[in-house]
Amino acid sequence: MSEAPQKFIFFDRDGTLIIDKVYLNDPEQIDYLDGVFEALSLLRDAGFKFAVVTNQSGVARGLVTIENLDEIHRRMSEKFAEYGISFAGFFYAPYSVESNHFMRKPNPGMLLAAGEKQAIQFDRSWMIGDRATDVEAGHRAGCRTVLLEGVETSETIAKVKPTFVTSSLLEMAKFIVGSDQTWDSTTSKHVSR
Ligand SMILES: [Mg+2]
Repeated sequence: MSEAPQKFIFFDRDGTLIIDKVYLNDPEQIDYLDGVFEALSLLRDAGFKFAVVTNQSGVARGLVTIENLDEIHRRMSEKFAEYGISFAGFFYAPYSVESNHFMRKPNPGMLLAAGEKQAIQFDRSWMIGDRATDVEAGHRAGCRTVLLEGVETSETIAKVKPTFVTSSLLEMAKFIVGSDQTWDSTTSKHVSR
């Protein structure tokens, strides 16, 4: 018997779960964003599965090594586990910005790759990030999206049309939990009540 498709939340890494240090290569320099453990606990309790999808062009530029990247993700995994939070995977795109590689956001390759490992209900899933490229990747994979305010201009935000915009991880989590309660399994759509 195959497993029922799961509802997922795809998280960007830098500027979404941890502070964006720009080409982070030192596992000692991981700093978690405010409210991240509380926010993900709420979402876990609502039945969502998690994956990290992160562009790492620093690898192509020779500024980040695969060995350090793996160690950063190992440590993050260990830290979140202290809060009972786990990730189905840490997907990264080590390609250059110019490559426009299918695995690199705004393309949806990493999200779709996660869907090849296990059945994912994309239309009930979400992509969370601080960049327009995160929102675009989420929409291309058929997900709804939350943009975390801080780096993108209001003009850019208006252009990519995230489902929800907030600067707070906790508000993000509460919005998704509330929104998921309007999911109608018979029509596979969100209904307004
Ligand atoms: Mg980011």
